[in-house]
Amino acid sequence: MGSAKTALLLTTAYNFEERKMRYLCMKPVIDTRESENVIKSRIGIERECRWIYPDTDLYEFAKEYFKAIGAVVEWFLVDEAQFLTAAQVDQLSRVVDDFGSNVICYGLRTDFQTKLFEGSKRLFEIADTIDEIKSTCTCGHKTIVNARIDANGDFVSEGAQVEIGGDDRYIAVCRKCWRNKRIAQSVRYALPFPELEGSCQGNGPE
Ligand SMILES: [Zn+2]
Repeated sequence: MGSAKTALLLTTAYNFEERKMRYLCMKPVIDTRESENVIKSRIGIERECRWIYPDTDLYEFAKEYFKAIGAVVEWFLVDEAQFLTAAQVDQLSRVVDDFGSNVICYGLRTDFQTKLFEGSKRLFEIADTIDEIKSTCTCGHKTIVNARIDANGDFVSEGAQVEIGGDDRYIAVCRKCWRNKRIAQSVRYALPFPELEGSCQGNGPE
């Protein structure tokens, strides 16, 4: 989901390497069928990462890890941070406060139903800073919604918050296109008026 933030994470990791800074990439594991512990971008760059399981205590993990390498990690880079639990975000904040590490979490704000993810909610509540990675909808507005699409490209409104193995089933759109397309879909399913299908694209920036 959202290749821009993963590419940004990998660029940051590359910069840390160049400057010989100690860093560690981490990622909540959602799909245990993934065989490699790597964070990949579509442009082919990848970095090894540690998996975070739902019951991983990140404060304890960091303490053990620092002991094992005999040093404190200066930077933690966490991908897909929306999938962290609220407790794990709190644990990361203690790693920052007690050890002086820096933690950068990359993630989505909301799910396909426009609701905050648990990890994102906690990050909004306690993070020192929040930076928005902006992207643009096909109509020119700023994207707000990570819409889940079905095989026909229609927006899906029901389902589990997290579905495994479906990165290609999401499209970032602005709030207006999200609304208009769903209205067009409901009309299309109610009445055979195919000319209404294009109404999403028809609404450009004002
Ligand atoms: Zn739009």
